[in-house]
Amino acid sequence: MTDDDLDVSDEPTDDASPGADKQTSANRANTSATSEPSGQPTSVSDSDESMPSSNPDTDEEVDIDQNRDFEVDLDDVVLDDDTDDDSQGLFDDLLSGEPIFENKEVLRPSYTPHELPHRNEQINNMATILVSALRGDTPSNILIYGKTGTGKTASAKFVSQELESTSKKYQVPCDVEYINCEVTDTQYRVLAQLANEFNEKNRSVIDDKIDELDELLETATDDQTALADTEYDTTDEIKTRIEELRTDREELEEVPMTGWPTDRVYSVFFDAVDYRERVVVIMLDEIDKLVEKSGDDTLYNLSRMNSELEHSRVSIIGISNDLKFTDFLDPRVKSSLGEEEIVFPPYDANQLRDILEHRATDAFKDSALSDDVIPLCAAFAAQEHGDARRALDLLRTAGELAERDQADGVLESHVRKAQEKIELDRVVEVVRTLPTQSKLVLFAIILLEKNGVHNINTGEVYNIYKRLCEEIDADVLTQRRVTDLISELDMLGIVNAVVVSKGRYGRTKEISLSVPIEETEAVLLSDSRLGDIEDVQPFVQARFDN
Ligand code: ADP
Ligand code: MG
Repeated sequence: MTDDDLDVSDEPTDDASPGADKQTSANRANTSATSEPSGQPTSVSDSDESMPSSNPDTDEEVDIDQNRDFEVDLDDVVLDDDTDDDSQGLFDDLLSGEPIFENKEVLRPSYTPHELPHRNEQINNMATILVSALRGDTPSNILIYGKTGTGKTASAKFVSQELESTSKKYQVPCDVEYINCEVTDTQYRVLAQLANEFNEKNRSVIDDKIDELDELLETATDDQTALADTEYDTTDEIKTRIEELRTDREELEEVPMTGWPTDRVYSVFFDAVDYRERVVVIMLDEIDKLVEKSGDDTLYNLSRMNSELEHSRVSIIGISNDLKFTDFLDPRVKSSLGEEEIVFPPYDANQLRDILEHRATDAFKDSALSDDVIPLCAAFAAQEHGDARRALDLLRTAGELAERDQADGVLESHVRKAQEKIELDRVVEVVRTLPTQSKLVLFAIILLEKNGVHNINTGEVYNIYKRLCEEIDADVLTQRRVTDLISELDMLGIVNAVVVSKGRYGRTKEISLSVPIEETEAVLLSDSRLGDIEDVQPFVQARFDN
């Protein structure tokens, strides 16, 4: 896509009657339960004249308002009486800026949206498969695929909440456990976490049952007829049952987060699942990370559990960004896990626009966004493989930049700056975490560029790279390996390497940097090993003077 495609018409912001806007947003801030408390002082301070005045003689709630008015007055004193600029405190400028956000949290990844536009099909597919759990049958296992930011986690969490609440409504026992395998990335930890969570649920079920029986026991002691509709013939039977439950409860072991043999963890987990009749849905998000880190043992054990469970049934939902991870699975695991597959395709720009519009209504003050902001965020994120997370990040960052500029609203220019900022943050992170050898290769390319070398070829990179290795006593890789590392840097979007034909001299790679040179060099030099390289400049110069 060219930059032209992203050029959304640059219409002036509608800044009619800002006072009225402020009034509405302040009112909204007061009525909306989700509004961010920290956003309030600013919104109130701008509109306090039109706020209902507080009555000192009434209840507590008004007192809170009074408090606010007090803050507001103080603010006004500072701003009105001291015209001298020097008296402005560190926060005054920032506070006096027009508030842009109504509730910034709405744009953060941790926020669970109530609506997921353009995911109906996937959500319905999941529900159709999982509904068997509510009929007491075992749902097929599901594998969910899709690139990052396509709404997999959000949709899966939405469906599991619905499933659990419906199971309560119809009193069909069904539990969903969610595990993020990027964090919980070994078989031990997955099983331990599941065991402990299922046992917590078991404990509360046991406690409820004991309470219920205690009550029955009390009534039945006075009045034997209370036992008529129960499974107990005598109060002694109730007492025995209560004792059994107490023993069960004591026997539920808490698995420590390290230290036990895996067999023992598995056995506690198995008993925890099988303690009572129910369908258990285990959701393994970022499942590819688990397989990458610890192989497929966990999945193997989970997928063959059903044949051994007596009371309960397990169903697994695996979620992955990486379509290829199943190649590494035992064929039995692969076929069991992939009974059903649901694909989450990337969002296109129009879909991203809808998603952003839904979220922006709650996140921003009325008319804080100029018309082209959302379409531009959507267009940028559509380029980035249709990533809704990226789109939301862009919108939030653009809002933050506008806030910092003390602008009246978010403009297209803020989105462009936000795009640069996010891109730079990404580059910094990628470069910072490169292995030393790749850093050396990249540093060699930077040094060549800084010395005005264009269309750099692999040989030139290799020569500088070797000298850099000597400088810091690093192993020198072969030119072939270095060529591979250059290709990796190309795939990461840090350099651009094109193969060009040199006629009878064969083909060669022409390499150029695709990231900002100063910032990238600074990140490289912040690595303690590379930071030791002194004065490479003259040496590079000397080579080219030859
Ligand atoms: P994935 O798990 O596929 O990487 P997520 O479900 O974490 O993606 O989504 C990334 C971000 O985008 C989250 O903040 C999520 O709330 C949001 N999001 C994704 N799809 C939608 C949608 N259809 N509607 C609203 N928000 C969405
Ligand atoms: Mg996810």
